[in-house]
Amino acid sequence: MNYADLHLHTQFSDGTYSPEELVTHAQRYGLVALALTDHDTVEGCARCAIACKQAGIEFVPGTELTAEQDGHELHILGYFIDTLNDKLLVEIAQFQNVRQNRIREMVARLKQNHVPLEAEAVFELARCRSPGRPHVARALVQAGLCSSLDEAFERFLKKNRPAWVPKFKISASDAIDLVHQAGGVAVLAHPGLNRCDEVIPGIVEAGLDGIECFHTKHSTSTSEHYLNIADRFGLLITGGSDCHGMSKGRPLIGSVKLPYQNVEKLRARALERNRPLTVPSNS
Ligand code: AMP
Ligand code: FE
Ligand code: FE
Ligand code: ZN
Repeated sequence: MNYADLHLHTQFSDGTYSPEELVTHAQRYGLVALALTDHDTVEGCARCAIACKQAGIEFVPGTELTAEQDGHELHILGYFIDTLNDKLLVEIAQFQNVRQNRIREMVARLKQNHVPLEAEAVFELARCRSPGRPHVARALVQAGLCSSLDEAFERFLKKNRPAWVPKFKISASDAIDLVHQAGGVAVLAHPGLNRCDEVIPGIVEAGLDGIECFHTKHSTSTSEHYLNIADRFGLLITGGSDCHGMSKGRPLIGSVKLPYQNVEKLRARALERNRPLTVPSNS
């Protein structure tokens, strides 16, 4: 059986692996396909594509967009997107701008709390366009202002702590449209983490193509629950480890293996969506 992992992060968002390191690990686990799904960015896709080609692994260009529906934060995965699509690049540049301003706001709040961290120190450490709280946590540890990442989150960065700043989110239907117009297929990430099944009919209506049934944090019964939902709503099935390298305790790549036939179905949907309309001619 051939397997894929369709949910992976690198240094280009909040993971710790470079694209090349990620592909080396994928090779070690014998994966035949992988998707890079960094948060609100496609910055690592070009390097990941090259590394996959050299390793003989099929690369699926992807992203994980931060979205919301009815007050719930949802993550929308985009697969088989054109990573050079103009509108996609313009929109994600805006999300990244907001993320960078959010870092400045977090640093300002830290200063108000007598924690002298500079935004530049966070950007220097993050070296990516899509920085987030883990980079602030790492910068706090590096500057000797916190002794661990856990301490940084517990004291300052967790929701409702002094330096917490809410994150910008587009609506789920705008995220789905953005993925579609970039030629991709849109998938609801880790529904078992968000536990807001009531929003599913609305986002299916908005054009959702698939649902991530297999995820590191889904139990067997949670996966079965979402397989039933996929069946009920006619959604494609995906899965992935959501590996962030070393930044979530341990590297998760290889812990979720999606049968390759699901990748073929996703690709077929992308092709179907992008097929030029043939206008019947009666003349
Ligand atoms: P952000 O997207 O900037 O809000 O940051 C979200 C990231 O922070 C995710 O990768 C989370 O895993 C990570 N994160 C959230 N809470 C904690 C925590 N208490 N300890 C370590 N990492 C966390
Ligand atoms: Fe993440
Ligand atoms: Fe996510
Ligand atoms: Zn993720």
